[in-house]
Amino acid sequence: MNSETNSKQALIGLNQTKLERICSHLKEPSFRAEQLFTWLYKSHVNSFHEMRNFPNELRQRFGEQYCIHPLELIRVTGSTAEPTRKFLFGLQTGEKIESVLMKDGDRTTLCVSSQVGCAVDCKFCATASMGFQKNLSVGEIVDQFLQVSKESPSAITNIVFMGMGEPFLNYDRVIAAADLLNNENGIKFGAQRITISTVGIVPKIIRYAEEKHRYKLAVSLNGSSQESRLKTMPIAKKYPLPELMNAINSYTLNSRHPVTFEYVLIEGITDSVADAEKLIKLLSGRRCKVNVIPYNEIGGDYRRPTKEVIETFVAVLNNAPFPVTIRWSKGTDISAGCGQLAVLEKTA
Ligand code: SF4
Repeated sequence: MNSETNSKQALIGLNQTKLERICSHLKEPSFRAEQLFTWLYKSHVNSFHEMRNFPNELRQRFGEQYCIHPLELIRVTGSTAEPTRKFLFGLQTGEKIESVLMKDGDRTTLCVSSQVGCAVDCKFCATASMGFQKNLSVGEIVDQFLQVSKESPSAITNIVFMGMGEPFLNYDRVIAAADLLNNENGIKFGAQRITISTVGIVPKIIRYAEEKHRYKLAVSLNGSSQESRLKTMPIAKKYPLPELMNAINSYTLNSRHPVTFEYVLIEGITDSVADAEKLIKLLSGRRCKVNVIPYNEIGGDYRRPTKEVIETFVAVLNNAPFPVTIRWSKGTDISAGCGQLAVLEKTA
């Protein structure tokens, strides 16, 4: 991204109404905004020159004042032959973020970031080491999808907001980005193939439930009791487990879909048979499913349990009345596994 591009307003991220404002500023009729929307979100153009139904003079004026992408793709780690690849992007303001593309059978999942760094400070997470730097804009979120799509050998089938940052601490922009991804005149990505994951920001879960969004909800539980959550998630102090469970009740009451609970298995912290039994007790009777994620080590104090311990934990959960899956994170060799994302390079 050159300095000229850096200073220009990016169009990706703007909805139809905002594009209309830009067209009116350029003294262009409003149908141009519709055409622009199609070029950006349906045709996925990279330059104004590709907008063939725009007169030359208009393409030039757009190019002088605006750019298309708010992100610059800096590096891709991993090859197209590998199941997981990591994408490093630069923001116009100089910070860097990462997205992860994972291929598993017929599913190609893109994990997007919603913030630069994170303020939540979960003890097992590499992103926490960056501290909080800023919320991503709608465009910076949507552009991760548009740019990774071009590099992906297969069509992206699922989008998860599980990259860097806590999506519900950037609520308005995350929802606006999901709405733009889902917009039927543009990208048209199915609502049920978009999952927003939170560590449990209670007021936002309640708001999400009240607003009746159709995107799937995942909650990082990582403990079967208040005491156990507190060991690795300081946020549990602000939003204790009983309050979190009540908020999730309002979501399941308002949604046709079950909530997914993510449970990271950490040696000696969350992996005992008693933990598994408490988890069953906590979640029985709820419309939910559980994803067990063996911990991805990041060089700190926490360890992944042995295979035997993981199998014993999952065997206990097999008696649960809700579905349980075990998610062996892919891409741990390139630090692209769950909880491993962190950009430690200096920003520009
Ligand atoms: S797990 Fe999510 S919420 Fe917790 S510190 Fe990492 S990025 Fe933030």
